[in-house]
Amino acid sequence: MRKQTYPIFIGLLLTFFNSVSAADKPPAFSRADLAAAATLRERAAADATAYQLIESLTTEVGPRLAGSPGDKAAVAWAQREMTRLGFTNVHTVEAIVPHWDRGEAEFSVLAPYPQTMPTLALGGSVGTGSEGIDADAVMVKDLEALAALPAGAVKDKIVFFSNRMERTRDGTGYGKAVAVRVGGPSAASAAGALGVVIRSIGTSNLRFPHTGAIRYTTTSPRIPALAISNPDADALVRQFESGKPVRLRIRSSSRDLSPARSANVVGDIPGTDLANEIVILGAHLDSWDPGVGAIDDGAGVAIMMGVAKLIKELDAKPRRTIRVVLFANEEFGTSGSTAYLAANEANVSRHVLGFEADFGAGPVWRLSSRVNPVQLPVVDQIFRALAPLKLVRGDNAARGGADLEGLSKRGMPILEPGLDGTDYFDVHHTANDTLAQVDPKALNQSVAAFATAVWLGAQYSGTWDRVTEEKPPRR
Ligand SMILES: [Zn+2]
Repeated sequence: MRKQTYPIFIGLLLTFFNSVSAADKPPAFSRADLAAAATLRERAAADATAYQLIESLTTEVGPRLAGSPGDKAAVAWAQREMTRLGFTNVHTVEAIVPHWDRGEAEFSVLAPYPQTMPTLALGGSVGTGSEGIDADAVMVKDLEALAALPAGAVKDKIVFFSNRMERTRDGTGYGKAVAVRVGGPSAASAAGALGVVIRSIGTSNLRFPHTGAIRYTTTSPRIPALAISNPDADALVRQFESGKPVRLRIRSSSRDLSPARSANVVGDIPGTDLANEIVILGAHLDSWDPGVGAIDDGAGVAIMMGVAKLIKELDAKPRRTIRVVLFANEEFGTSGSTAYLAANEANVSRHVLGFEADFGAGPVWRLSSRVNPVQLPVVDQIFRALAPLKLVRGDNAARGGADLEGLSKRGMPILEPGLDGTDYFDVHHTANDTLAQVDPKALNQSVAAFATAVWLGAQYSGTWDRVTEEKPPRR
């Protein structure tokens, strides 16, 4: 009996002190703000705006690779749609983007068992010349396995990277596997290879190769790099496992064109008493070219525009300004993000909170953050307002997306409603990234989650303190 007395006493004492300190501070959110959050959540479930935006973008614009005619059309589309939805201060911020032309690509196994397989050049790859390259091939799992080979082992050969990406909900499988795509071509070139073929960085067993950017170093020659689908990579592994020499043929007419003009498209829902403070909602307007960029990142574009539209339709006005930025060229070097930061050098500290949607069409399953630890109780309150959406509470080590990386590194807090990425890499960067991959219900649940968190982030009665802890390197 006595053992219980102390905890009860301490508990009462804590309750007393908490209520004293709570009485000193205004609540983080007024009753009206919380009621408006619930209204947003309910309206989002029934609002067709986000789905219609993806439908319109993928139908009327389609693929929008940086520098292409589709990219220009997307910038015009975004300005028109932001204006139609009633955004304020709709404008563009110019970004100079690389312009790469995919051309045609071909991949064949010449020996031991001849077959031709569907392929895609990796983004930025040089071409092979019209004759193509016929060469003996060496299979390695990943960059570590390549580095472990004896000197000369891949000289004048084609390197095949066989590692398969792991399916995860939060995208960590991609983070681990993607190094082969980004750095594999130059690593193989440094070891004397003539070309590279990778197993697609993707999770589906459909016969769709996945493209995506490569990064050449300046220290070794640029060599061509192609991707093949998972089932074809499995078949190629079996050819290697026959023990007979494997000979491959690759051909690609990819080439670099002159850099082009593109633009970020910006639109605001103006704030009231704290209008000078900006809650920034980022997504990217560009897409890879084989598909029409419905999930990457038409969905993010639609979620953010849908959120801003729903907030604009509330009777109440947001305290802080809500700014949607549709970034140019995320896929091929984040040029839009760099241009936005350069244009806003004097306004960095006005960006008090950031959200980014670049991980598919939902649903949202988790709420993570990267805020000053002082504000973690505020994030807890936002999490409670999201309770009907049944999210998991994440940690305070959110990475945020690539487009807000610059602002985040400069101390801007991030709230991250986590989009469920379990199936995202079945489709990511493939010809199969189409409207058919978007589930309207999951999309609307995502709009609901983002709208709730964005609204409360804009209404918070305190100050969003800067994050002073250094950002760890991307996993
Ligand atoms: Zn993306």
